[in-house]
Amino acid sequence: MALKKLVAGNWKMNGLAADLGQLVEIARAPAECDVALCLPATLIERASRAAPNFAVGGQDVHASASGAHTGCVSAAMLQDAGARLTIVGHSERREAQHESDADVRAKASAALDAGLEVILCVGESLAVREAGAAVATVSAQLDASLPDRPVTAVAYEPIWAIGTGRIPTMDDIAAMHAALRERLVAAYGEAGGAVRLLYGGSVKGSNAAEIFAVPDVDGALVGGASLTAADFLPIVAAAN
Ligand code: PEP
Repeated sequence: MALKKLVAGNWKMNGLAADLGQLVEIARAPAECDVALCLPATLIERASRAAPNFAVGGQDVHASASGAHTGCVSAAMLQDAGARLTIVGHSERREAQHESDADVRAKASAALDAGLEVILCVGESLAVREAGAAVATVSAQLDASLPDRPVTAVAYEPIWAIGTGRIPTMDDIAAMHAALRERLVAAYGEAGGAVRLLYGGSVKGSNAAEIFAVPDVDGALVGGASLTAADFLPIVAAAN
């Protein structure tokens, strides 16, 4: 099934109010695919006001609705600020914040319960890829991270491809996405066929068209190249 592509940016810990002009330029550009930007929590409300019809998201969410969780943000808070979606399970959080598959599953459930769309990230390390265990490892990671209800998108992001300029071969992306599609259908039945499978890791204007032509690639999660309209819009154009 051909799904409408989703090109989502992840600004990570980048962006001040002065950078919202980039978001406004991205929001105004014509697009036939869905486009979203996941921002630092500090910018979500101002971004929603600056581009009211544009999909603004968070980069993480706490699994609890409220309480003694210093520094954390709940799904209701993201929504209150104007977010429509959130990323969960990014490898930088799985590594640096020691988030487990169970944590990611709980976060995804909390976000879905609150009415947010969810992009759930999975991906293997270079050691796992070189050991020939990438598909088995990422499939198991996905199985253990998926909530009971379908997420909006799953982003396959090889950790070794993030911010490095290296990407897997198109055959490797195809093999991984086919395996993840199987897991999604096993988990959700027919609805698993409608979950968009994004590729993430060093996507740029120069490689996006080739990546988007791979079967079962329904869009991209983009880090560095989402920070400016000049870098991001060619990726959106490739998906159109
Ligand atoms: C990411 O961290 O989600 C990502 C894909 O980063 P980059 O595009 O910079 O590799």
